[in-house]
Amino acid sequence: MKGHWVEFDRHWRDTDVVNCQVCGRLIPSRAWMFDGGRGELRSCSPDCEEIYFSYVEPEHGPKEAAK
Ligand SMILES: [Zn+2]
Repeated sequence: MKGHWVEFDRHWRDTDVVNCQVCGRLIPSRAWMFDGGRGELRSCSPDCEEIYFSYVEPEHGPKEAAK
């Protein structure tokens, strides 16, 4: 694991719906950020980093970074 947790500030949470870039689940209060090969991706947990590197990235190629 090379990612890290990022707590959302209230402003961001109130104005945007934030979804995991790996599994699509809603991220309620903090995101697990990791480098997906083309920049930082926003996910809901370290498990999604594992899923990304064991399935998503080898099958579909690296995802674009979070905006
Ligand atoms: Zn996820």
